[in-house]
Amino acid sequence: MTDARSLSPRLPALKLIIDGQYVDPVEGGTLPVVNPATGEKICDVPSATGADVDKAVRAARRAFESGPWGKMNASDRGRLVRRFSELLWQHREALSLLESLENGKTLREALRGDVGPGAATLSYFADWANKIRGEVLPVDGPFLTYCLKEPVGVVGAIVPWNYPTSLACWKLGPALAAGCTVVLKPSELTPLTALELGALALEAGLPPGVLNVVTGYGDPAGEAIARHPDVDKISFTGSGRTARRLLQASAASNLKKLTLELGGKSPQIILPDADFDQAVEACFWGVFSNKGEVCNAGSRVLVHEQAYDAFVERLAERAKNMKVGDPLAADTEMGSQVSAKQLETVLGYIESGKQQGARVLAGGGRDTEGAKAKGYFVKPTIFGDVLPTMRIAQEEIFGPVLSCLRFSDEAQAVEIANGTPYGLAASIWTRDVAKAHVLARRVKSGVVWINCFNEFDDAAPFGGYRESGWGRDLSHHALEGYLQTKAVWTKLPSDS
Ligand code: NAD
Repeated sequence: MTDARSLSPRLPALKLIIDGQYVDPVEGGTLPVVNPATGEKICDVPSATGADVDKAVRAARRAFESGPWGKMNASDRGRLVRRFSELLWQHREALSLLESLENGKTLREALRGDVGPGAATLSYFADWANKIRGEVLPVDGPFLTYCLKEPVGVVGAIVPWNYPTSLACWKLGPALAAGCTVVLKPSELTPLTALELGALALEAGLPPGVLNVVTGYGDPAGEAIARHPDVDKISFTGSGRTARRLLQASAASNLKKLTLELGGKSPQIILPDADFDQAVEACFWGVFSNKGEVCNAGSRVLVHEQAYDAFVERLAERAKNMKVGDPLAADTEMGSQVSAKQLETVLGYIESGKQQGARVLAGGGRDTEGAKAKGYFVKPTIFGDVLPTMRIAQEEIFGPVLSCLRFSDEAQAVEIANGTPYGLAASIWTRDVAKAHVLARRVKSGVVWINCFNEFDDAAPFGGYRESGWGRDLSHHALEGYLQTKAVWTKLPSDS
């Protein structure tokens, strides 16, 4: 991969995108976008308030009810979404550079883990646009009764900072394929790629108002979307704390529907007969890719006591040699945490692990070596002797911190795996695949990987059990969340 430090990024228009126009916010506020690897400001973007959100929702409503979008043939709608995906792919390097700068992830991760997959997701859902169909129902009596599948309407898509492009595409793909219109609000930490997405959608020919982008803080911009009486659905990825506020806002406004993709504390279960070479590598990248800022990060490794010492020692060696540094350098394996606040949160968890008696096997603090002192870098950290009750075994850290726990039999492994409020993802490592399938049914999570980790495909649903969320992203299961079902009854003349 080329060293990108010499490249200068092309910034998008630093305006809100509402009704096909680039506009300034009504109240004129801005928010700063900071490069977390250097602590330097990149630019200011508009900070939307309720008045801007109201304009965006009205535009989305008009586009849904009376614009060309609602009348368009499904095939034509699919063609526009495909064109959108092609433009994203064409501009993937520029977007990845922007994303690396505003997020602190390596350029490689931005390209291969976020922007490229985002384009693929749009392409996948483009193909669904003309395949959405209802059914004829076998009711009793002289009736012809059938179901129509109709778009839910105006969607508020509220997304976080860890995968700003692909998570936006996880919402946009099915919403647009279903025929909805969207108000997209990116995280205040990573608004730049969302502005580019809005611009590319217009370039692709999406009619005005179909995709509106409002940059701004959770409160007031996100809050205004959540409380707006004319938003039909919120598709959200982020924290459980915000999800609870969205539910309250829905209850206090129009009972809008919600899809919630929240956090996790995903266990990787290592049985003694596992392929250690593969499992060590998967556990390493499972928690340290994207600097641990991954909702399904394998942040707990549960190892059978027979294998524990050898396995954990190998993991720790790998972590000690990880290359942390400039996200734009071609050989960097891990960049900077997204913000000073996130750095503080992660360091707080590291302290709590130490205080509660876990053993630091690698890392264990901030990385301030050389130029890294200006940014928000953390050493890849591995804790051994972690007990299931410790905070670092229970709570989502969302940083490069791995907790290693011992188990003595499979029943105990399942009990520990299911022993947090979360249920997003899990993995099972063993050569006994029949046993793995049995365990897969006992683990309470929306995804189970057997002898692999972090595998994604647009055709496979992703989402959580329990406090990890409601509904699914990706695959035809996600489409359902943007459709509603209407039963149409026709009385037929009796044939006697
Ligand atoms: P967050 O909940 O603070 O923010 C997510 C989005 O919600 C941002 O756009 C933010 O501006 C907005 N928001 C904040 N307060 C709001 C409010 N009161 N009303 C409406 N919108 C509001 O989460 P974050 O810090 O950006 O992201 C990290 C969290 O997201 C982690 O907990 C992580 O596990 C979770 N996450 C989950 C998934 C998944 O697919 N399950 C993926 C990525 C991140």
